[in-house]
Amino acid sequence: MFLHGTSRQNKLGHLEIGGVDALYLVEHYGTPLYVYDVALIRERAKSFKQAFIDADLKAQVAYASKAFSSVAMIQLAEQEGLSLDVVSGGELFTAVSAGFPADRIHFHGNNKSREELQMALDHQIGCIVVDNFHEISLLAELCRKSGRAMDVLLRITPGVEAHTHDYITTGQEDSKFGFDLHNGQIEKAIEQVLQSDHIRLLGVHCHIGSQIFDTAGFVLAAEKIFAKLNEWRESFGFVSEVLNLGGGFGIRYTEEDEPLHPAVYVEKIIEAVKENAELYAFDIPEIWIEPGRSLVGDAGTTLYTIGSQKEVPGTRKYAAVDGGMSDNIRPALYQAKYEAVSANRISEHHDTTVSIAGKCCESGDMLIWDIDLPEVKEGDLLAVFCTGAYGYSMANNYNRIPRPAVVFVEDGEAHLVIKRETYEDIVKLDLPFKTGVKQ
Ligand SMILES: *Cc1c(COP(=O)(O)O)cnc(C)c1O
Repeated sequence: MFLHGTSRQNKLGHLEIGGVDALYLVEHYGTPLYVYDVALIRERAKSFKQAFIDADLKAQVAYASKAFSSVAMIQLAEQEGLSLDVVSGGELFTAVSAGFPADRIHFHGNNKSREELQMALDHQIGCIVVDNFHEISLLAELCRKSGRAMDVLLRITPGVEAHTHDYITTGQEDSKFGFDLHNGQIEKAIEQVLQSDHIRLLGVHCHIGSQIFDTAGFVLAAEKIFAKLNEWRESFGFVSEVLNLGGGFGIRYTEEDEPLHPAVYVEKIIEAVKENAELYAFDIPEIWIEPGRSLVGDAGTTLYTIGSQKEVPGTRKYAAVDGGMSDNIRPALYQAKYEAVSANRISEHHDTTVSIAGKCCESGDMLIWDIDLPEVKEGDLLAVFCTGAYGYSMANNYNRIPRPAVVFVEDGEAHLVIKRETYEDIVKLDLPFKTGVKQ
């Protein structure tokens, strides 16, 4: 059993997070419940930022808010001096509602609508990461009409695809995102942006994957991009002020996972950028990174109540919880693995193998296969670790299950930051249908 951040076993033999007993949280807020260890999020944010400060470099660490976006989370990101990535009008609206400084918001996405781009212009956000030719012309048109200017990065697919344990290099990347670095697309895009009066080309961006445990992919991407920057200085007189190398830094979901410390990723990235800048005689560009999962993933724990159990003799024991793929779709979607403990009996031997089922009407709604817990009983509390990224943000109302509440814990205090959905919320948008009555 391993515990993250401030999680520990308290004197009562319960799981405690941020100095708050899990049983207290469940009594006050019910289950399922997402609990965030705020101190761990702050520590991660500081580690990413400090590595740049130590190197005395200009940088931005932008929280990829798609991992978990809420007003409170964005306010926490602001407290820690992070910048912010959004990928939709909804995420932008959340950021603006949270009072996040617009000039530190970056807008991503492969199909930003007219309305979303206009919203970005109206709020005068820091930059738009332009993904495709359609977006260049749309943005140019909207800038012209509204008399506004916008800084942009161009998203590049560098032909480096990083995975957990390795990376693949491809000449041409078959991806829905960005401009290909090798087939002439990116040069056309640069030309078009440089011709626009209202769009200012600040630099380039790439994002090579997620849950990456190695730095080789980032180094290779930097090398490939610098070789091109060298050509573009000649051909276009373009010098990239900003180099954004994306996110994807891995975290430890299970004991097999071996991520690097945030500082190690950043140090390697800095080293690669410095070396290549020197090689081609560039000033060191401002380096931007975009951690999502690695800021909030292992800071999140989901608390569930165990209900029914089923034994298939000689095969397996199942125990079902009061949530499932409605609050954590990653096991069903990606075969993602999680670890868990009995939150009310954490001090007891975890020596009975059981599989944790969700309550949704899908055989595939299994949260964890074959985990060791104390002999489970109805009413026991299960704590599933590392659910802070792509948990709440991918939560849904399948089977019309209300979405859980979210609580931040820090220094012995609990703060409710997202209310639990009610059944009234579930039918809130529904309208009656009566034949013969026109609306
Ligand atoms: C999703 C995404 C991120 C964050 O990825 P993580 O794996 O959560 O760190 C960063 N940048 C871009 C462009 C993304 O799409």
